[in-house]
Amino acid sequence: MPEIRSKLPSVGTTIFTVMSSLANEYKAINLGQGFPDYPMNAELAELVNKAMKDGYNQYTHMCGLPALRERIAEKIEGLYTTNVNPDTEITITPGGTYAIYTALTTILQPGDEVIVFEPAYDSYIPTIEINGAVPVLVPLVYPDYKIDWELVKKKISGKTKAIMLNTPHNPTGAVLGSNDIKELQSIVAGTGIFILSDEVYEHLIFDGKIHESMLRYPDLLERSFVCFSFGKVYDCTGWKMGYCVAPAGLMKEFRKVHQFNAFSCSTPVQYALTEFLPKKENYLQLGPHLQKKRDHFLELMQQTRFKPLPSHGSYFQLYSYADISDENEKDFAIRVTKECGVASIPVSVFYKDGQDNKVLRFCFSKKESTLEEAANRLRKL
Ligand code: GLN
Repeated sequence: MPEIRSKLPSVGTTIFTVMSSLANEYKAINLGQGFPDYPMNAELAELVNKAMKDGYNQYTHMCGLPALRERIAEKIEGLYTTNVNPDTEITITPGGTYAIYTALTTILQPGDEVIVFEPAYDSYIPTIEINGAVPVLVPLVYPDYKIDWELVKKKISGKTKAIMLNTPHNPTGAVLGSNDIKELQSIVAGTGIFILSDEVYEHLIFDGKIHESMLRYPDLLERSFVCFSFGKVYDCTGWKMGYCVAPAGLMKEFRKVHQFNAFSCSTPVQYALTEFLPKKENYLQLGPHLQKKRDHFLELMQQTRFKPLPSHGSYFQLYSYADISDENEKDFAIRVTKECGVASIPVSVFYKDGQDNKVLRFCFSKKESTLEEAANRLRKL
């Protein structure tokens, strides 16, 4: 029998699957994996049905339905006053994670280094390693998870191929500010360093903050792959639809990789999104809508012994449980799922060395009644 020499020897099953399975097994409220538990927009769902019935069921263009790419370019111009060429600079992908995987696979050679901020979304490091490259880890500064740019400068070497950014940030909800952009601009100016920017939570931003997209800054965009997700915008994470924006020269190489992997994405969904995207209110109201949920959750959780850390975006709110237990994060998250009936994500899984600050990630993109019941159960701790 042939045996596989693992390309990812130190990797197990992703924590999202582990915690969702446990939540199902114990019939717990699932505030672990990030997804809404309320229905997606009925009009958009209807548009997909219509596209299917109208016969749009075969492959569409490898880079995505041209009309959808045009609508995305218009959206980008409206939001970020940047002109992006829909023919050469946008590719529709099966989800944001796929876009990140493809971009990293496009640029990385064995031995290249990539600056990764920790806690890091769990796909980043395996994707770097499977390409034979090396993650160079930079801790975000606890408890508000800001970037220590002096440390970044020290970690840059002749081998640095890319810097990975994620704003709003999963799992912490931290967002980049204008000062971060200035630091980044000065670090990359005149270098061959790429930027891989995960912006899947672009609209989920609170407290009057603006989304510091790479798309706003020509000197950053010229070296960036910027990754987005329709699932996060339209409450349909199960659709696995997203897109990548990059300058034409970079996108040409990205497409070489993409064409032999997914090749193209769901055709009826792309027809539906083409019609739905110009209805701006659907994405413009998302920030305020989710901010209300975050605030409601924060208020409910005041009745527990959990202590919130600042979150200004994403689906997520971190809580310290240092006053409740000194168990490690994984054990505590599992026990809370089994005994209290509320699933969460231990933040230590987003650190390569498993750094444990006694912090759990809770997803608040849920119905009010779900959040209320969850907080009720967590009060018992
Ligand atoms: N992005 C989602 C989260 O952070 C999970 C996606 C997945 O399950 N792979 O919860």
